[in-house]
Amino acid sequence: MTSVQENLKKTLLSLPEDVTLVAVSKYNPASAIEEAYALGQRVFGESHVQELQQKKDILPNDIEWHFIGHLQTNKVKYIAPYISLIHAVDSVKLLQEINKQAAKNERIIRCLLQIHVAQEDTKFGFTCDNCREFLNSGIVEELNYLEIAGLMCMASNTDDEGQVREEFHNAHVFFEELKTTYFENCEYFKECSWGMTHDYLLAVEEGGTMVRIGSKIFGDRMY
Ligand SMILES: *Cc1c(COP(=O)(O)O)cnc(C)c1O
Repeated sequence: MTSVQENLKKTLLSLPEDVTLVAVSKYNPASAIEEAYALGQRVFGESHVQELQQKKDILPNDIEWHFIGHLQTNKVKYIAPYISLIHAVDSVKLLQEINKQAAKNERIIRCLLQIHVAQEDTKFGFTCDNCREFLNSGIVEELNYLEIAGLMCMASNTDDEGQVREEFHNAHVFFEELKTTYFENCEYFKECSWGMTHDYLLAVEEGGTMVRIGSKIFGDRMY
């Protein structure tokens, strides 16, 4: 077994069976993905469109590619034909573009709304209020080629476990609010994408259904 395979096996053993592991392969070569694939992993996460396109072309067709990074509107068209889930959707404009490109490709694209829960300042993510505003606006009813499959968030990058836990907890409370208020009868609104290498165990305890793990599996990234 290669070290990637050993790390993957350990990671899977540390996760409840109903949690989806997104193996974050950004900056790692296609050969590393093949090693994980050989052990049965099918869900991989990438955060750069060009890198994803190159890997997708040479790797097996049954890989489920997730886009986990910040996605620029003008790049949606490249991944729309095949992307399985877009995690970090953070604006109405981006949702509308994904819907347009999904329609062109005659497919439904699943998306997660990125919400801003961390104390840190980042430019990305809906606040809870923006998110409610969007869901009240009626725009969502026009997005016939989208499935809003849940929420995504990133906790603050801190050693303070209490804070990280609280941020994931708040995200989960908000998920439950949206579920009962707007998505009561939508089976597909069910995913909470939170947790990375350093905080995924807390994330799973606080409602995470999908974890995005890179360095624990593939080792430190070479940028
Ligand atoms: C890179 C990345 C990850 C994985 O990070 P690790 O710390 O290597 O597990 C998860 N989520 C997002 C959005 C990322 O960009």
